[in-house]
Amino acid sequence: MKVFKFGGASLKDADAVRNVAEILKIYSNEKIVVVVSAMGKTTNALEKLTRAHYYKENNISEFFDEVKTFHYSLIAELFPDEKTDVTQELNTAFLEMEWAFEEENTKGFDYLYDQVVSQGEVISSRIVAAYLNRMNLKNHWLDARDFIKTDNSYREGKVDWELTVKYSNDIIRKNFNDCNIVLTQGFIGATSENHTTTLGREGSDYSAAILAYALDAEEVIIWKDVPGVLNADPKKFKDTQKLDKISFQDAIELAYFGASVIHPKTIQPLQNKNIPLWVKSFISPKEEGTMIGNNNATEPNIPSYIRKENQVLISIAAKDFSFIVEENLSNIFSIFNHHKVKINLMQNSAISFSVCVDKSEKLLSLIDDLKREYAVRYNEDLLLFTIRNYDQETIDRLTAGATIFLEQLSRHTVQLVVK
Ligand code: ASP
Ligand code: MG
Repeated sequence: MKVFKFGGASLKDADAVRNVAEILKIYSNEKIVVVVSAMGKTTNALEKLTRAHYYKENNISEFFDEVKTFHYSLIAELFPDEKTDVTQELNTAFLEMEWAFEEENTKGFDYLYDQVVSQGEVISSRIVAAYLNRMNLKNHWLDARDFIKTDNSYREGKVDWELTVKYSNDIIRKNFNDCNIVLTQGFIGATSENHTTTLGREGSDYSAAILAYALDAEEVIIWKDVPGVLNADPKKFKDTQKLDKISFQDAIELAYFGASVIHPKTIQPLQNKNIPLWVKSFISPKEEGTMIGNNNATEPNIPSYIRKENQVLISIAAKDFSFIVEENLSNIFSIFNHHKVKINLMQNSAISFSVCVDKSEKLLSLIDDLKREYAVRYNEDLLLFTIRNYDQETIDRLTAGATIFLEQLSRHTVQLVVK
């Protein structure tokens, strides 16, 4: 059994959906769990709609109509000459959103977000499932909320692995008895009380990995609009190179430090069971792509790098000029944790502790809190470069003309904060 994941870009319009069917035809003799995300930019649109509702802004009906029109016109294109059940399924999904808006909500914004935004995946999977059936790619549509079980951390659901493994096997396997494709949603799950949760933005890759782990799949393929994993983001750098093979370890590091090609949580469940992950192009599906797996080395052996913008370097020292000791560190970390600010890089010296973080609205209150107890200085508008399998030439090239604020080297990775 294989797990395929099709993201928003691979489902952005009617032609894209047709192309997904073409790809599945290539694999028509295999059992495939297909995981889909919301179509095109639907998640962003639903986010906007949820905010507008929650904060009682204008434009609510305009935002809602935008999402509806996009999907209804797509089905009109895909099913031109027949009445399809999908229309009814879409009506239901939109009705569920309305109910979520009307329901008295005591659980806050994140809860509402998950009830509404999750419908993007529900709608997308309904459309794709119906279209595949129409193209004689017989499949069963399953609701991921029946088997991806999470706690109630809305917008960041934490997977209950034990339940998820059990339900995935119980529910998914038997659906392969009379067909080769089982189709479900990425990104969404449910609590034990069956409230919908989401797994964090771009979480569909993670869903594919969760299911592969649960079902002991032979491999996962993530279908993307790039030929594979490149050694740098082609939108930010020229002369990027495709990597044919990457080790799990390199992939984890690159994803964690901001390479946007795969969701950071995706690799670990796969590595745990040694399930290879392929990143392939949905535009040229027969090309090799990139294989992420249990190889020791990444090939070709060239440096990969990530450039993160809008970085802030915060330097924290004791007000009385004393050393920064363990007690301070523990306190500093708990302040970061309290404000839910993720640390990209940290370094300590005898008298100060430096932390590089993304710029965000949360920083002001974080810095206020830190200032109560420490002397705090910070620099904004910095860049963070992370270079995996670095060499001096790449370091020099990326930092040419820049001032280096902080540098950290380990055997395979160098990180540089520069201006
Ligand atoms: N549709 C969700 C998002 O855009 C999940 C995903 O695409 O992976 O964040
Ligand atoms: Mg998406």
